[in-house]
Amino acid sequence: MEQIKNIYCIEGLMADSNSYLIDNTDSDSEYNYILVDTGTGESKGYLYAQLEEIGIKKDDIDLVVNTHCHYDHVGGNDFFPNAKVAVHKDDAKSLMDPDSAYNVSALFDSKIRRCDVDIELEEGDEIAGLKVLNTPGHTHGGICLYDGEVLICGDTIFANGGVGRMDIGGDPNDMKASLMRLKDLDVEYLLPGHGPWVKNGNEHIKMSCMMMGIR
Ligand SMILES: [Zn+2]
Ligand SMILES: [Zn+2]
Repeated sequence: MEQIKNIYCIEGLMADSNSYLIDNTDSDSEYNYILVDTGTGESKGYLYAQLEEIGIKKDDIDLVVNTHCHYDHVGGNDFFPNAKVAVHKDDAKSLMDPDSAYNVSALFDSKIRRCDVDIELEEGDEIAGLKVLNTPGHTHGGICLYDGEVLICGDTIFANGGVGRMDIGGDPNDMKASLMRLKDLDVEYLLPGHGPWVKNGNEHIKMSCMMMGIR
């Protein structure tokens, strides 16, 4: 399994988002093992097996961070009973309401099983040395996590030039503004919610900007 600094990259199966396990044991934070996104919840055995490969059991995960409220990123939250759940405040409501159209579970013909939110994130919060950036466009409360080198970007952008859908609770103008922000960062490793994680993140951000007509 690929490891970038203290982050293990777990490829999503089928419709699942990628998951990123942050080993935070070197810090004095109360959270030792943080899982960013949990997939649709249809690949429990796979996700557990991937974590076991790193030497981590489901009960070791003490914090789940969701990059946004979509079903393919939050559906597996209930796999981690000891974990608190953190999501940006603007996406919290859609996660807490299983019937909300904004969590798009209906698109997956399913329903979110774990709907509690323990921590409502805001711009500027910090998780394991990564700063929370609110990057709306795909959803209002979409976040990226950034430490000056790594950008975990959810469905805001993807490798090789791509942006998340804007027709399921997003907004193209917000997306443009978010891309303008990301363009000014110095990103070596881009870790998106789907598809490959890549080096030379800046180049991939530029490609996504070009797609949206931003130079
Ligand atoms: Zn997604
Ligand atoms: Zn999404």
